[in-house]
Amino acid sequence: MNYLDAKSAPAREDRLKANIAFGGNLARMKGCLQRGCFGKEGCLNLSGRSFTQTHGCQFLLSLAIINSIRKSVVVMHGPVGCGICSTGNIGMNKSFKQLRDPNSEGIIWLNTNLDEADVIGGGEKKLREAVLYADKEFRPETIIVANGCVPALIGDDVDSILSDLQEQVAAVIMPVHCEGFKTKVMATAYDAVYHGILKNHVRLPNREKYVVERTFEDLQRQYRISRNVNILNVGSMSRPDELELQRILTAIGLNVRFIPCYAEPEDFEYSLETSLNVSICGTHDDYFVEHIKEKYNIPFLIDTIPIGRKNTDRWVKKIAERFGLEKEAERYLAEENKILDESLKPFRATLKGKKAFLAGGEVRIIATAEIVQDLGMEVVGFKAHHFDQFIEPIFNALDNIDNVLIDVATNQPFEQANLVRRLKPDVLIAHTGGNNIAAKHGLPLLPLFGPTYNYLGYSGVFEVARRLNRVMRNNQFNKNLAENTALPYKKEWYEKDPFTYIKEQE
Ligand code: SF4
Repeated sequence: MNYLDAKSAPAREDRLKANIAFGGNLARMKGCLQRGCFGKEGCLNLSGRSFTQTHGCQFLLSLAIINSIRKSVVVMHGPVGCGICSTGNIGMNKSFKQLRDPNSEGIIWLNTNLDEADVIGGGEKKLREAVLYADKEFRPETIIVANGCVPALIGDDVDSILSDLQEQVAAVIMPVHCEGFKTKVMATAYDAVYHGILKNHVRLPNREKYVVERTFEDLQRQYRISRNVNILNVGSMSRPDELELQRILTAIGLNVRFIPCYAEPEDFEYSLETSLNVSICGTHDDYFVEHIKEKYNIPFLIDTIPIGRKNTDRWVKKIAERFGLEKEAERYLAEENKILDESLKPFRATLKGKKAFLAGGEVRIIATAEIVQDLGMEVVGFKAHHFDQFIEPIFNALDNIDNVLIDVATNQPFEQANLVRRLKPDVLIAHTGGNNIAAKHGLPLLPLFGPTYNYLGYSGVFEVARRLNRVMRNNQFNKNLAENTALPYKKEWYEKDPFTYIKEQE
């Protein structure tokens, strides 16, 4: 894989043949994955919808990563509405940065505020002014320019403008081409951001004696590098999640660095002093780790996500194998599982037999289903943002799942509302940020991740179980909501097949 000569990363529907429109059971979906027929005629990659309620925009998802990068200013090049959602995570963003460095500032962003006149005359002047102002006023290490639809449609030559500006500013300018209209698969955003990071911030650190003289310090550093792993974190990971993964990997003898979220620009240079890049979730990271492998020959691991006991066991063992630490991992995992098993008993007693519906990112929901089954509950349905090849290893941790229905839909809350009415779950486990509609079903609702709560690793299983137990015991708020507000759909919609508008390619 090498797309770095291109201006921007390709859309995921082309590069990975991802699917965003499917309704059926998991057996059928797995069949498509196993046949490996992505992109060919009759393949689910080509499916679409004859009606779409809402869509996702990769510009917004890109902000989830770039807003988190420390010592940066983000310039949003577009109309003022693009990226306004950033106001929603100002507080969380600042405190998360300060958990890494107490002196960190919160998000600093500027918007070029393109209007009708700029659509005719071009946005170049405003972009120049914004970048120069960002550099002079805030003195950041990097200025990240997120490019929206409008400048792309009117033909602003953003890269030429920025390369000219680079001569005039102290910060490293990092363009991110994340125009919403260019892809239907929102997860293309991860590639768009990694593309910018790879081109502008990944280079070998400028160490004076880098592997030239074999001093004692060099040998120490080389030993350390031989035990270093980069964990590619994601916006949905909390700091407690990071600490849990660090706890586990340190226990078997490894050193851990987290990138890209909440990293600072220099971290991307030092991230090359590692022996393994470990993806938390293939949906996020393959673009980055493949390029690093090709350019710097650093191996990578993309397998399962450490959510649930079996998935965490598998993830840790796969990492341990790369370092010859299998025995250390075996011993450690046995102990962790014993403690966790004991601590889950009270929750199993209350949650056994309850039915759950899960909605959110494909990898996270399928992995969470393992926790649901571990607690003796039943999975009755899924709604995934999209699906691609990276979902495959996660199925291994599940039992009797083939007949469970899955709706593949980025947003489209109307399909979820219909499915939930039919499947009658006892609890919804659903993506944070989309639960205003879901809550009106009156069911207990557990957010699929949260800024402060631990979800990953062994302690994450306990925390999910504890929170599930709590929301199931006290659901009064959502009950009140359901009694006093209506879902925004007519009763005729609930009588229709929830997959009515999904059109598969013949
Ligand atoms: S779709 Fe385009 S115009 Fe709309 S928010 Fe996304 S980048 Fe901005």
